[in-house]
Amino acid sequence: VRGLKKHFPVGSGLLGPSGLVKAVDGVSFGVEEGKTYALVGESGCGKTTVAKLILLLERPTAGEVLYRGTSVAGLSGSALGFFRREVQAVFQDPFSSLNPRLRVRSIIAEPIRANENIGRAELDRRIEEALDIVGLPKGAGALFPHEFSGGQRQRIAIARALAMRPKAMVLDEPTSALDVSIRAQILNLLSDIQDEFGVAYLIIAHDLALVEHFSHDTGVMYLGAMVEQGPTETVFGNPQHPYTEALLASAPRPDPDHRPTPDVILGEIGSALNPPSGCRFHPRCPHAFGPCAGTDPAPVDTGPGAWARCHLLTENAMEKAE
Ligand code: SF4
Repeated sequence: VRGLKKHFPVGSGLLGPSGLVKAVDGVSFGVEEGKTYALVGESGCGKTTVAKLILLLERPTAGEVLYRGTSVAGLSGSALGFFRREVQAVFQDPFSSLNPRLRVRSIIAEPIRANENIGRAELDRRIEEALDIVGLPKGAGALFPHEFSGGQRQRIAIARALAMRPKAMVLDEPTSALDVSIRAQILNLLSDIQDEFGVAYLIIAHDLALVEHFSHDTGVMYLGAMVEQGPTETVFGNPQHPYTEALLASAPRPDPDHRPTPDVILGEIGSALNPPSGCRFHPRCPHAFGPCAGTDPAPVDTGPGAWARCHLLTENAMEKAE
């Protein structure tokens, strides 16, 4: 994903504020083959819009999504079909993402039929194989979604994606609608699938404990922009941006010494409608100083494959140099 932007003009100013909603504003990152990249940040930071842009559900205002080095914006015909087969999605809510009027078999068959010209026997084999991988019994294909629990429905959604033999999957909050006891099962299933088939995942999640355990790389978004990214160990082990630090401090994590401090971030997340000048986090940042309100900080390397955008990092580097 390179320099991706999604802006929406809103309002006339007569009935409410008008301006430009900068839902995504210049986001860049890469997901490696067979690896997991997590996008984190509070609701409204733009991570779901990034997922929609990647899945071609929305068109970017600027920037591009590249798949295997080719921009997906101009794809058509068989090249577009290839992209749609190889990049699949699993959404948050398995209760609404499955058509209640279709049997599981038809739910899984639908995208295969839409993208590939295969015979009945091969189709049946693909459906059985996908159900088997996600741990659903043989007869599951003949049942309707309402005959399954929430966790099983998410397994059906994963089977539907998997039957396309994808190389990459966008997982938008894949466990947040499920009971805590089921979440680990679904995550283990996704890990096993990655190990066996080398599928790359882009996971959108607000559960930081999940991200820490599950992802190889993490990007932290705030009001449409990426403020820090790098290997998950680096970002979680030694956060360099005050927003990342506050986000991690406020969330429950599987560390016996960690005591969440929910009110550590000051005030509410700002609005992507006419976002603050300079560093977008400056109205909430306890460390804001001179340049923060006027100048957007540039990315500063913070370790192998990691960077963060904060004027403090430049200041500290200059102090060290003196
Ligand atoms: Fe805080 Fe300034 Fe750094 Fe932004 S640039 S996070 S306001 S210190």
